[in-house]
Amino acid sequence: MILFKRADALSEYLQKQRSRSNRIGFVPTMGALHDGHLELVQQSLKEDLLTVCSIFVNPTQFNNATDFEKYPKTIADDIAKLEAAGTDILFIPGVSDIYPNGTSGLERFDLGYLETILEGSSRPGHFQGVCQVMSRLITIVNPHLLFMGQKDYQQCMVVSRLISIMNHPVKLITAPTVRQADGLAMSSRNRRLTDSGRTTATSIFQAMTTIRNNIKPGSLLPLIAKAEKHLTSRGFTVDYIEIATANDLKITHEWDGKTSLVCLVAAFLEEVRLIDNMVIS
Ligand code: AMP
Repeated sequence: MILFKRADALSEYLQKQRSRSNRIGFVPTMGALHDGHLELVQQSLKEDLLTVCSIFVNPTQFNNATDFEKYPKTIADDIAKLEAAGTDILFIPGVSDIYPNGTSGLERFDLGYLETILEGSSRPGHFQGVCQVMSRLITIVNPHLLFMGQKDYQQCMVVSRLISIMNHPVKLITAPTVRQADGLAMSSRNRRLTDSGRTTATSIFQAMTTIRNNIKPGSLLPLIAKAEKHLTSRGFTVDYIEIATANDLKITHEWDGKTSLVCLVAAFLEEVRLIDNMVIS
C-alpha cells in the first residue's frame, strides 16, 4: 500500500496509472474503520480496480463542533486494516490540501429537495460540506468507480446528484449496509457508546424490522408512532423516523401497496447520533 499525503502527488501518480489503462476504484472515508468500510474496499478490489481509500474527517460537513472534535481517530489501526485488506493506495490529506483557499466561501451546490429533508433539515449545511469534500476528492482521484454505503442512504443520493452537477463520468456503486450479528449497523460512532448503550443500540434495527414486517397499504403513521415509542422507551431521543419512496426519497405517510419504500431513522443514544435505514418493500 502506498500512502499519499499530498493531493498533487496523488493526482500525478494516478494520472500515470490511468495512462497505463489501470481503472481506479475509490472509497472515501472519515477513518475509524470497521468492516463496513472494508467491504467497500473489497468490492473495489473484486472489480480488479486500482483501489484508493481516503481518510479525511471533513470539518465542513459537521454542523456540531463537539461531534467533529469527538469523531473517533484510530489512524494506526486504520492503516493496518487497509493494508491487510489489500488496498493499493491510501490518501490522508490535511485540511489545507483539500481546501487550499480555506473553508470559508466554498462553492455551494443546488441539491434541491434532497437538502430540505431528514439529514438535510436536521443537520443544516451538512450536505453542502459533503459535496464540497466529495467534489474535491473526485477531482483529485478522478476514479472510474466510487464505492459508498447504503448506510448513508440520503448521502448516496446527494453524491449521485453531485456527480451529475459535476458532469463527471464516475459511476457510483452503493454497497449494502454491513451489520453486527444483532443487526446494529456498523458505524465509527458506535465506539462512543458504553457497553450497555451498544446493546441498546440494536433497537433501531428492531424498530425498522417491525415496520418492514408489519407494513400494509394505508396509513403508515401508526407504525411510525409505534417505532418511535419503542425507541424512546429504551432511552433514545428520536430525531426522526420516516418512511420515504426508495427511489426519490419523497416522505410518505400512505402506502399504495406497490411503491418501494425505505424507512430512515436518526436517534441519539448517550448523546451519540446514530442513523440507519432499511428498504422495506
Ligand atoms: P464514513 O467514514 O462514516 O464517512 O463512511 C465512509 C463510507 O463507508 C460511506 O460511504 C459510508 O456510507 C460507508 N459505510 C459506513 N458504515 C457502513 C456500513 N455499516 N456498511 C456499509 N457501508 C458503510
